[in-house]
Amino acid sequence: MTKLRLAQQIGVLAMATLVSAQSFSQKIVIAHRGASGYLPEHTLEAKAMAFAMGADYIEQDVVMTSDDQLIVLHDITLDRTTDVADLFPERVRDDGRYYAIDFTLEEIRTLNASEGFSVRDGEKRQSYTNRFPMGESSFSIPTFAEEIELIRGMNKSTGKNIGIYPEIKSPEFHREAGKDISTAVVNMLKDYGYTSKQDKIFLQTFSFDELRIIHDEILPAAGIELNLVMLIGSEDSYPWMMEADGMTKLANFADGIGPEKNMIIPRDSTAGNIQITELVSRAHAAGMQVHPYTFRLDPRNVPDYASDFEAMLELFYFEADMDGAFTDFPDRAVDFLKNRQLGTP
Ligand code: CA
Repeated sequence: MTKLRLAQQIGVLAMATLVSAQSFSQKIVIAHRGASGYLPEHTLEAKAMAFAMGADYIEQDVVMTSDDQLIVLHDITLDRTTDVADLFPERVRDDGRYYAIDFTLEEIRTLNASEGFSVRDGEKRQSYTNRFPMGESSFSIPTFAEEIELIRGMNKSTGKNIGIYPEIKSPEFHREAGKDISTAVVNMLKDYGYTSKQDKIFLQTFSFDELRIIHDEILPAAGIELNLVMLIGSEDSYPWMMEADGMTKLANFADGIGPEKNMIIPRDSTAGNIQITELVSRAHAAGMQVHPYTFRLDPRNVPDYASDFEAMLELFYFEADMDGAFTDFPDRAVDFLKNRQLGTP
């Protein structure tokens, strides 16, 4: 073998190594509502913890207040995760709920945020009993701006470049109330310098109508481009997306999909018979990334077909070839990918 050929072969090998490292590094971890398995969801504390755990992206759900302020909250209602019913009992709507859109930011700042709970027989019962104790310590609902500033600030102080992953919550509900939440979110993102598909941001929504409005009208009006993700709750959400050319059609508007994870590996799979749908391969063929939700390790949250949380991640990341996972436990997914890359089991 000549020296030249050897050099060429080493070059090819080096390139191959680079490519494989790259394909590993493209697998990402999205902290779902922050490190919400450990601290109350969507608190700045949960976001700081997710950042420290090495998540690639940190998620924000965004809703609007009565005075048009953007806050980070999963529900359009406040009663699952705050003491609003104790502090503002007279503000309940006929359906028994307390809507963020009925409150000013100043009022929302007086609420204590906590682990999610339901009320039965007048008693608050924490939904995930193994998580951070409800009612202990002190947490609040952040504004979207405060959260962006937290992550940007930590990016500066650590030298990292962790991304954000905001979701427009219930856009139709906001529009019916006369509020264009998507334009408000896009303008704020632009103000904070998120203006191109190279910036570390995915903007997500469950509404295809809204996705199309954002893609066709709101982003062009703002003069920016952002990566857009279509969330899909089930096969029935938009039947056309499940047809053979559905992902190709969707790719005219979206850069990725965020499907419920059972749409990729059906829940009735067994350890000896793991079924993988065509959704990932169709989305990839259309040039889109796939970020399923939600990977949890609470009791009964790892499907029976996987022996444990990491075995579930192995199936989704490397058998089904998903690009990223929304998880409440970002440290476990970060460690899993790190160990997988090093070749340690
Ligand atoms: Ca979300």
